Amino acid sequence: MTQPNLANYGFTDEQQQVYDMVYRFSRDELHPLCAKMDREDWFPEERFRTLHEVGLLGTSIPEAYGGQGLGFLEQCFIAEAMSYWNPTFGAGWLGTDSICAHNIVRNASEDLKQEILPGFCDGSIIGALGMTEPGAGSDALGSMATTAIRDGNGDGDDYIINGRKMFITMGPVAQIILLYAKTDPEKGSRGVSAFAFDTRTDGFKVAQVLDKMGWRGIPTAELVFDDCRVPASRLVGPENGGVGVLMSGLNMERVMMCFHMIGVAQRALDISLEYAAQRKQFGQAIANFQLVQGILADMYTDIQSMRALSYQLAKEVHDLKVGGGGRGEIHMRSSACMLHAGRTLMKVVDNGVQVHGGTGYILESEINQLYRIGKLMEIGAGTNQIRQIIIAQELLK
Ligand SMILES: Cc1cc2nc3c(=O)[nH]c(=O)nc-3n(C[C@H](O)[C@H](O)[C@H](O)COP(=O)(O)OP(=O)(O)OC[C@H]3O[C@@H](n4cnc5c(N)ncnc54)[C@H](O)[C@@H]3O)c2cc1C
Repeated sequence: MTQPNLANYGFTDEQQQVYDMVYRFSRDELHPLCAKMDREDWFPEERFRTLHEVGLLGTSIPEAYGGQGLGFLEQCFIAEAMSYWNPTFGAGWLGTDSICAHNIVRNASEDLKQEILPGFCDGSIIGALGMTEPGAGSDALGSMATTAIRDGNGDGDDYIINGRKMFITMGPVAQIILLYAKTDPEKGSRGVSAFAFDTRTDGFKVAQVLDKMGWRGIPTAELVFDDCRVPASRLVGPENGGVGVLMSGLNMERVMMCFHMIGVAQRALDISLEYAAQRKQFGQAIANFQLVQGILADMYTDIQSMRALSYQLAKEVHDLKVGGGGRGEIHMRSSACMLHAGRTLMKVVDNGVQVHGGTGYILESEINQLYRIGKLMEIGAGTNQIRQIIIAQELLK
């Protein structure tokens, strides 16, 4: 089945065309890279930077800055189609093109946008998000220890950044990190600001590249900021306005992550169907056994529920204005969408491994790669428990 008929869900022919184009490109160009990326934790940097040649960089960036100016829904379908054929590549694309660039588009000053957005569009800039720290994960804002203090000795127009960031996707290859740091530590989470941090700044270094169980092929690192001097013009949003920047795109980003998960889940079903048809036991294909058929039917049904909820939420968040999300019903609904998608993906890939038997337990099998990728979707971008807390807090208001 692989390619969904988006008209069934009320989407347009143009959105189907975007999906189909990215599907074909990813099948031909990105899928062949999967095995090496996973085995060697190899990032195909050149292929990533030349995505602009097929219109897949700067998708959320307006044409005035050299971007594609696509809508949110089109970006969601890019994420789904790319992640179907190469999930880690899709995740890396999401991190830079959506999460980092999109927040800069929404919140940065005009001068800053003109300075850096063209680089996101032509592949010269890869972006990352720097929020989590060794001591600040789920409580990212409250426990944040990284500081950006106005330099009292100069003209007061610079900040000096000190601290460490942990688990930063694309950290070792990024030129711009959307970096969160405390500009007014006394104010707690209300004293956090966002910066477009240039990794060529003195005092920045990659402390370690982390060896992960999944998402192998896009580098994840611990980063160190040691007396890094950053001009105030690099602020994204107002000083102490970091929470607003974070919240402005959060609901959209979380829903877009669900499309990444749908791509992974659909691939798990399709390769399980193929395997069940060719694997013979007791003199026949295991697809003939009704217990195996039951697993496949469950996988299909679970994916249907992921699509129904995620496609619906995408329509609800696609034109959220700055300040329109991060609280209230839409915050609860997008958290529920992500909680459901992460859990359901884990069920789907678990069932996929089951259909593959011992082969599914072998690291180099594709279903095993998808299983290892799937677990992150219950942890990253807010764990299942944090998603539950957001939902319960809204319910109990
Ligand atoms: C591969 C990978 C890529 C990542 N990429 C990025 C990135 O690009 N940028 C970035 O900033 N971060 C990134 N992260 C970090 C990710 O967002 C965090 O790992 C996640 O938010 C959880 O934080 P933690 O790992 O510190 O877990 P912790 O917060 O220490 O949580 C540990 C456990 O305690 C539970 N827990 C914590 N608090 C509560 C509570 N109040 N109630 C109930 N349970 C609770 C959690 O749910 C979890 O089960 C990445 C992580 C990974 C693994």
